Amino acid sequence: MEAEEARTRRGLWFGRPCVHPEIEHQEVQGTWSGGYVCKLCGSEFSKISLWEGIYHFLQQEMDAVQVRETVELDRQLQSIEM
Ligand SMILES: [Zn+2]
Repeated sequence: MEAEEARTRRGLWFGRPCVHPEIEHQEVQGTWSGGYVCKLCGSEFSKISLWEGIYHFLQQEMDAVQVRETVELDRQLQSIEM
């Protein structure tokens, strides 16, 4: 997506929250600028911030799995006590 179009999208998005479902190369006059943009909200990302985003996402997923396992373990322990 052209950087100009991303800027327009950001304007239309009004800073609302976005999960950035689709990220693509940010282009300047048809050439990849080295950055990325969200197709939906037009947010810009550098390669580093993109990796940080993925890292945080995975970390949240892993935390969620841990919570589920803890809950399951508690349930099993309780059933043993009964
Ligand atoms: Zn987005």
